[in-house]
This record gives sequence, structure tokens and C-alpha cells, in this order.
Amino acid sequence: MKAAVVGGGIVGLFTAWYLEREGADVTLFEPGPLGAGSVHAAGIIEPANAYRTNTLAFLRRVGRLWRRGTCTFRRCDGRWLFESLHQLERPPLEGMDDCLHEMAETSTARYAAFARERNDFQYTPSGVLERYDDARHFAHERDLALARQSHFPVEVRASEGDAGALFFPGVSWLHTEQFAERMARELVGTHVVHRRVRRVDLDGTVLSDAGPSTFDAVAVCTGVGCRSLGVPLTGVRGYGWHTRGPHGLSVAVIFEDRGIAAVPFAGELKVTGGWDFDLSTSPYQVERVLRTARGSVPLDTILDFKQGSRPCTPDGLPTVGRKAGLVVATGGFRLGWSFGPALGRHAALLCLDRMRNQPFLARFCGELHSGNL
Ligand SMILES: Cc1cc2nc3c(=O)[nH]c(=O)nc-3n(C[C@H](O)[C@H](O)[C@H](O)COP(=O)(O)OP(=O)(O)OC[C@H]3O[C@@H](n4cnc5c(N)ncnc54)[C@H](O)[C@@H]3O)c2cc1C
Repeated sequence: MKAAVVGGGIVGLFTAWYLEREGADVTLFEPGPLGAGSVHAAGIIEPANAYRTNTLAFLRRVGRLWRRGTCTFRRCDGRWLFESLHQLERPPLEGMDDCLHEMAETSTARYAAFARERNDFQYTPSGVLERYDDARHFAHERDLALARQSHFPVEVRASEGDAGALFFPGVSWLHTEQFAERMARELVGTHVVHRRVRRVDLDGTVLSDAGPSTFDAVAVCTGVGCRSLGVPLTGVRGYGWHTRGPHGLSVAVIFEDRGIAAVPFAGELKVTGGWDFDLSTSPYQVERVLRTARGSVPLDTILDFKQGSRPCTPDGLPTVGRKAGLVVATGGFRLGWSFGPALGRHAALLCLDRMRNQPFLARFCGELHSGNL
């Protein structure tokens, strides 16, 4: 079975890994280094913390970030906007909770298994602290978290200077760049082609900078780029910095009302932020986000800077589906790393014809078509 994976971000890497493990002959197309589109992320693995975006609560959340200067609106996908508004406050689709729960378990177990084999990516299952400035927001999130604490444990904490804080002990984090390097070592049998793909067709033809080739199945994992194949998606851009210097953090911290996250590593802190609804690659908002980040955590020596985008479906949850020879896996939004293993596994099983489209997961893949990428 000859399969192609287009896009070597976190979802594409896992799709290739599962395909290779199942004995497929895999070609992975990624113009940059492996992990390129995804390594800017904080690397917090918290799939059980997924929430829908087609809700008034999400609009209020975005409004708070906009007032703090870490969220802007420049350009979003028209079909995504239409569907998001059309589905605002609609009840979730049947099967959503079970499906997300299963994906959360698959993903968490996969990272933990990799770390047990060899923890060369600083996998740390020590929990995340969510800090809130806004008392009403905190009360809302606290009540939600307490209502589901039987399957996702939470501790309510007092935190000086904050309206309140929630600690989720079951959350872990990892070093995204080191994990991408690990995946490069894992994919021993995958043929990696560092070329951009120009076009994919329903019959399994891939036109890359290296010329055309045909496959039994093609998994397209190009993040926001999947919108050109008929998936309603928009991009929410964000930024990540590695910094050196004393930081005093022992667990990952998310400043929920500022849109900033900070993750501690040996001798380093990874800081991320920014919620720019924008389909361009222009990092026009970086300085403002950096100022908010500096007001939240010590940022002494900045070692590097990367940017990327959260691929967002109309309800903010992942989607994966197949039509003819094309499989699309995307929509990780703020949790693409957290759902990466499960999304990759579903995409691989669809490519291998070992699974059919799952109604909830394939909800945005009904109009898949051939297209230029
Ligand atoms: C600031 C920030 C912090 C985040 N923190 C977290 C976090 O802590 N935890 C979490 O779970 N998630 C986090 N996310 C979300 C996560 O980064 C994304 O959901 C994830 O990167 C999406 O992965 P993907 O593989 O679907 O797409 P991408 O990461 O966008 O990867 C797509 C890949 O496809 C390649 N590509 C594109 N077009 C082509 C083409 N034509 N041909 C070949 N290749 C192509 C790109 O080069 C890229 O490598 C964060 C996001 C942001 C912005």
C-alpha cells in the first residue's frame, strides 16, 4: 500500500508514523524541517481540556484577549465565519463527547509510551496551572472544571495577585523541537521529500515541486492549508519564544485572560502567546504580545522566535475524513499537539481502509475535493 502524507507538522508526523507502523510504503512531503509548522507551540498536552468555539463563552474569551492586546482580527475564512455564526450555541453533535474522550486517551497514552521508551523530549507529567485575572471568568471555569472532576481532576488554588487559579494535575508538557527530532528518528522507513506540494487530486495524484506521483491514498495534514480542499477553516496565529534565565516555575502556567503560556524546561522557559485571526504569515502583532508576556513571566534572554497558526474549524474541534483517495486531518486549533497522535491514527486507518468516516469527526469533510495547496 503506497501512501503519501502532505505536511510534516505534528498531525502529519503522527499520520506517517502510524502508516509506517502498519506496513505502508510512506512518502512524507514537507518543505521545511520536520515539525516546521508546529514547533512554535507551548507543547502542553491537555486534550481533556478541549472546548467548542461556536459559543458565547468563547466570544467573551476572545473579547477579553482583544482588550488585553493579545488578540486581533485581520482576515478570516468566509465559509468558516458563516458556519461558526450559523452554529452558534447549537447543541453539540451526538457522539462528540465519547469521540473526544477516546482521542484524548489515545493521544496521552502515545506520548507517555514514547517517553517510557526514551524520554528525549522532556516529557513532564506534572500538571498545568491556569491563572485568571477576571473573577467572573474564573468562577465560570471553576464551576465547569468541578463538574467534570471525576474524569479530569482539578484543584482550586488561591494565587496571589490573581482572581483565582485552577491546577490540573493530569496535564503534561513536552519540548516541541525535541519531539520533532524524536519523530525524525522514529520515521526510519518513511521517504521524506523536502518539497512543497502544489496540488492533490481525489484519485491520489500528488503534484509536488519534484513532479507528479500517484498513491493509493493521500493524507493532507497542512493545517490551515486544508481549507483549499473544501474544509471550512480559519487560522489563529500565535508566537513562541525560548528564553534563558531564572524563571522560578515548576509547572506549566497558562495566563487565561492574557493568552500567554509559559512552560519550564532545564535551563529554559518556553513562552507563547497571540491570538491573531489572520490568514497571512505577517507577524505584525509580535511586540504587543511580547509586552504582555513580559508583564506575566521573566523574559531575560530570548534565544529564538517562531510563529505558527491554530487551524480552527467552525466549532474549534478536530476533523478528519476521507473522500475517494484523499484523507484530510486538521482542526487541532489550540490543541493540535494534544490531539496529534489520535488525529494521525484516524488519518492512517482511513488511508489503509481499516476505518470508515466517523460521523462526528468527518462533519466538515463532506465537500472534500481536489485542489491546489
Ligand atoms: C502560540 C501557540 C501555542 C500553542 N500551544 C499549544 C499547546 O501547548 N498544546 C497544543 O496541543 N497545541 C498548541 N497549539 C496548537 C498547535 O500548534 C496547532 O494546533 C498545530 O500546530 C496544528 O498542527 P497541524 O500538523 O495540523 O498543522 P501545522 O502545524 O500548521 O503543520 C502543517 C505543516 O504542513 C506543511 N505544509 C503546508 N503546506 C504544504 C504544502 N503545500 N506542501 C507540503 N507541506 C505543506 C507546513 O510546512 C507545516 O509543517 C498552539 C498554537 C499556537 C499558535
